[in-house]
Amino acid sequence: MLDQMSKAPLIDIQEVCRSFPKPSGKDVVVLENVDLTIKEGEIVGLLGRSGSGKSTLLRIIAGLISPSSGIALCRGDAIDGPPSGISMVFQSFALFPWLTVLQNVELGLEAKGVDRAERRKLALDAIDLIGLDGFENAFPKELSGGMRQRVGFARALVVHPDLLLMDEPFSALDVLTAETLRTDMIDLWIEGRMPIKSVLIVTHNIEEAVLMCDRILVFSSNPGRVAREIKVDLPHPRNRLDPAFRQLVDNIYALMTQRAEPKTVAMEGIPGTGMGMVLEPVSTNILSGLIEALAGEPYHGKADLPVIAGLLHMEADELFHIGEALQLLRFAHLSEGDIVLTEAGKTFAHMATDARKKLFAEHLLTYVPAVGLIRRVLDERPSHTAPAERFRSELEDYMTESYADDTLKAIVSWSRYAELFAYDENSELFSLENPQ
Ligand code: ADP
Ligand code: MG
Repeated sequence: MLDQMSKAPLIDIQEVCRSFPKPSGKDVVVLENVDLTIKEGEIVGLLGRSGSGKSTLLRIIAGLISPSSGIALCRGDAIDGPPSGISMVFQSFALFPWLTVLQNVELGLEAKGVDRAERRKLALDAIDLIGLDGFENAFPKELSGGMRQRVGFARALVVHPDLLLMDEPFSALDVLTAETLRTDMIDLWIEGRMPIKSVLIVTHNIEEAVLMCDRILVFSSNPGRVAREIKVDLPHPRNRLDPAFRQLVDNIYALMTQRAEPKTVAMEGIPGTGMGMVLEPVSTNILSGLIEALAGEPYHGKADLPVIAGLLHMEADELFHIGEALQLLRFAHLSEGDIVLTEAGKTFAHMATDARKKLFAEHLLTYVPAVGLIRRVLDERPSHTAPAERFRSELEDYMTESYADDTLKAIVSWSRYAELFAYDENSELFSLENPQ
């Protein structure tokens, strides 16, 4: 009996679905039939585009929300509230500003009823391990972003969890800081010094996933499900320049872009299309810069994403976001790891500024439903103005607050460039640029 219990995987997710109700009465299906097991001793990565449901899956495993249907087990027991033995590191960790590093780290132990002396010892060990030695009595505001995220890690590790959940833990840090922290974590793991048994990490950085993980699950969107599982058999320490490493990164790019083909018909209620289209606020300078680079020598409209990322000195995932934005706007499409300009993209590259703005405006109105909506509302109102709040709440029917925020930011900056409508930051009002 005991033997059987110990054989239950750490996490077992079977046919999990999750939907969120919308005010219109219909549900948005975010996860559909997701299967996932995590065994002891492995680092599993979750890759997928924004809005594909990765954080939702993590929240289900952490016991913060429950599945709409399907089974979620931790060591064979149904997850019903936060299981003991699971800790989570968020993108930016909410530290208590009025507590010192030591007090912030001790907090998780207090809740578990660990006595004072033991608490102090465990917290100091975690602080030491994570490279915060000497900062015990510092307050969060005295620390850099990277050091604060280390406190977040220490706080998650201090309880010696079986499973550490990480939701894009390095993405709020600058490139160098992220690299240092990532390398430190991998080293600790390989040296067996991490007081944890397994890791599930969400990232949209393909190289990061290949660097860290034993297995990578690629999520598809609309709705989210596990599209593919990839084993990473490369020995540690892994070298980004190793041809086998590059090959794997390329293959994953190909897989992810293959699934990112644009849907010409906007489907209501499905995240990623229609009003649920999540936009990243990429600047129009960068968008047109990439179009120009692709149109010119030596690409002639088509380039390998990782190669062009290297040439433009960009992080691969950053370029992926830009490529996705161009794809949503139909100036390029992503397929098989390549980014390919559409006819419209090629035309854009050879146009003068004013003509570019007009073409960009047409594409925004045609392909981004939220822009079409804002335009209709502004046209219809006698004042030709409308508060951003009205559109924010509409977007929040389809996506989380922070995605709605990013999406609005993108819309503001793109439609400014296209001279479609103006936006006043102070009054938070949209208005028609040239009311007729
Ligand atoms: P990811 O982490 O892959 O970017 P999320 O899991 O955060 O994706 O979100 C997946 C989709 O579910 C998004 O469209 C998001 O807006 C929607 N969603 C997530 N949480 C809620 C919620 N509480 N209410 C409504 N929609 C939600
Ligand atoms: Mg997320």
